[in-house]
Amino acid sequence: MDLEDTLLMMPGPVPVAPKVLRAMSKPMINHRGKEFSAMFDDCTAMLKEIFQTQNDLMIVSGSGTASMEAAIGCTIDKDDKVVAIENGKFGERFKDIAARYGQVVPLEFEWGQSVDLDLVEEKLAEGAKAVTMVHNETSAGIRNPAPEVGKLAKKYDALFIMDGVTSIGGDDVKVDEWGVDIAVVGSQKCVAAPPGLSMLSVSERAFDAMTKENLPYYLDLKAYKKSADKSQTPYTPAVPLFFGLQEALKIVMDEGMEARAKRQATGAAAIRAAMDAMGIEMFPQLNEVSGYSNTVSAMKAPEGVSGNDIKSGMMDKGIIIAGGQNRLSGQIFRIGSMGNVAPKDIMLTIQELELVLKKLNIVNEIGAGTEAAASVLDTL
Ligand code: PLP
Repeated sequence: MDLEDTLLMMPGPVPVAPKVLRAMSKPMINHRGKEFSAMFDDCTAMLKEIFQTQNDLMIVSGSGTASMEAAIGCTIDKDDKVVAIENGKFGERFKDIAARYGQVVPLEFEWGQSVDLDLVEEKLAEGAKAVTMVHNETSAGIRNPAPEVGKLAKKYDALFIMDGVTSIGGDDVKVDEWGVDIAVVGSQKCVAAPPGLSMLSVSERAFDAMTKENLPYYLDLKAYKKSADKSQTPYTPAVPLFFGLQEALKIVMDEGMEARAKRQATGAAAIRAAMDAMGIEMFPQLNEVSGYSNTVSAMKAPEGVSGNDIKSGMMDKGIIIAGGQNRLSGQIFRIGSMGNVAPKDIMLTIQELELVLKKLNIVNEIGAGTEAAASVLDTL
């Protein structure tokens, strides 16, 4: 199938606007020149607005995981304790990164289960230098309680390191208000730029905590700050990706974060309404402080069917959705609705999904899901 005929409805990379693609084919510029610095400052200013932060903002040439590692690698020394909250694959990744640098205090929930704040408090009360949590756990379609964990981190004087890889630019994320010391986002997710860059905000408290003798070399956030103060990056940046990022961020600004968050939340609500109408169960188990993700919806595979069958049925129709990762493979399927995904993309996805489910004998008639999704999208 021609790539241009496929619709990406997965949790990143997401489709990028034609003007973003065009921007990436511009001639190279001097990365130490005025033109690059102006672009750097423009991107930084827009990102601070999206992160809702006054903290320093760094742009790393490397995917989300690079910034996750930078956050931990710069703040955590070998004897430092890190409470690592896990209820999905990316929480597990934070735990694994933390184990390379310090002493992990794991706080593991079944993937897709909600975080229990009493247990977070219990672990933090024992003393830790930092707590890590994924705000939007992409692997399980669950939104974790970031403001509450921020409060607990403050109470017990721990750094709050938050993976906002699939929430920042999609949800209303308030880095400063929530007390997030380091927040990370990936370019290929909610801001709808190409993959390859990650951005992170770093508080003064986090910089003060970077007391270890040897910071990582390429991911030394102090070096990033020193350069950022001169509107530069410490090493040669991925210039074409910066061109693309700048255009993508302008699209975010033109839409406005409030409208963008509302559109993405409504899109996810439409998907959930369709699932409910078709008798498909959502995967996450919510408690009073968690929520369904506003950017990626995870559904249980219906009895007798693998999530991978649904995924491949959709692929045959030119729509790329996601299955379950690692231990969730086959058990769930996921539909991404982040970035610039429009209501019509969601409608097409649901219509085709109904056809796939009919073929798999999961639904008898088509139409209920489509109608339910349409009625939610009509509220936009
Ligand atoms: N964290 C979350 C929540 C993610 O969804 C992802 C990627 O899907 C990552 C981290 C890793 O990001 P990357 O693949 O850009 O390194």
